[in-house]
Amino acid sequence: MDLASGFVVGLDNGGTMNNATVLDASGTFLVDRLVEVPSRVKEGPAVAIDSLVEAMTTVLDVTGVPLSRVRGVGLDTPGPASATGVITALGSTNFSDPAWRGYDFRGALAERLQLPVVYNNDGNAAALYAHFSRYGLTASAYSSVSAIVGTGLGGGVIDGGRIIKGASGQAGELGHVHIPMEGLLAPGQPLPRCNCGFVGDAESVASLTGIELNLLPYWLSRYPDHDLHQEPPARAAKLVRGHGERGDEMARKIFEQQAMAIGRLFTVASNFTDPHTYFVGGGVVEAAPEFRDWFLATVRANTLLRAEQVEAASFSLVPDLDMAGARGAAVAAWEALV
Ligand SMILES: [Zn+2]
Repeated sequence: MDLASGFVVGLDNGGTMNNATVLDASGTFLVDRLVEVPSRVKEGPAVAIDSLVEAMTTVLDVTGVPLSRVRGVGLDTPGPASATGVITALGSTNFSDPAWRGYDFRGALAERLQLPVVYNNDGNAAALYAHFSRYGLTASAYSSVSAIVGTGLGGGVIDGGRIIKGASGQAGELGHVHIPMEGLLAPGQPLPRCNCGFVGDAESVASLTGIELNLLPYWLSRYPDHDLHQEPPARAAKLVRGHGERGDEMARKIFEQQAMAIGRLFTVASNFTDPHTYFVGGGVVEAAPEFRDWFLATVRANTLLRAEQVEAASFSLVPDLDMAGARGAAVAAWEALV
């Protein structure tokens, strides 16, 4: 199989919506907006596969590409799943229906479409898209690391233009890398805990969950008159960003700790794969320009690179985050075919 004059489709499967895109053989995306249909994952695998087929049909209609010219499909989903797209047997937030346990999502979609399907988790797909958006057809000559702050801390590691997947598919789980806490935590601040069971990993600080469970309880205790005392914890955690954009002192301390955590994570990365580009993504960098620039500068200031690495490396933002999953999924299928 090869791409020749064909196309690949990227399908991003999320908790509520599927987003689809089309990539041509030259590496150009044919859609520049979200093309979405409900993902219906809560109704189980059979319905979810139908919904992905509908997403594909929709995007082919939008772009006028006939199905007969589609050479392959990229699929990305939230984890946890194996490197080949088998959903974990342990059950997970997004795939709560019992029929999902141990379900070969990639294999089932390939069987249904009668096309090759390349699988990635959503963090890795977004990381691949960030890389491709920067390096395009020269992607294979470069490496990058992406840290994407959301409910958790996702992202991925790209080397030579390819996603590093590891032996079990769990490479690039950047959120669960331990980082030094000395000098990051304020005096008397408790060690932050992650849902994965680790204490003091990157996600325990640099995630919405980290704000809610670890950072906000401590910082509210230092700001007894702060108006976020009036909100329930989950809502208060979401409101911290808006406060940060408006220059609120406590919110800036919280985001400073997040930026320090990402900088320390990137320092670890600099000694593993020594990437050309460090990408930061998530709501925090889609915020007001002053806040975004301050956050990125703080990440940079806390990434300890040697002189040669400073020369070779750059810092950037993950672009088009809402489309990054589908686009990265498409790039992975494209790379497999080109
Ligand atoms: Zn963790």
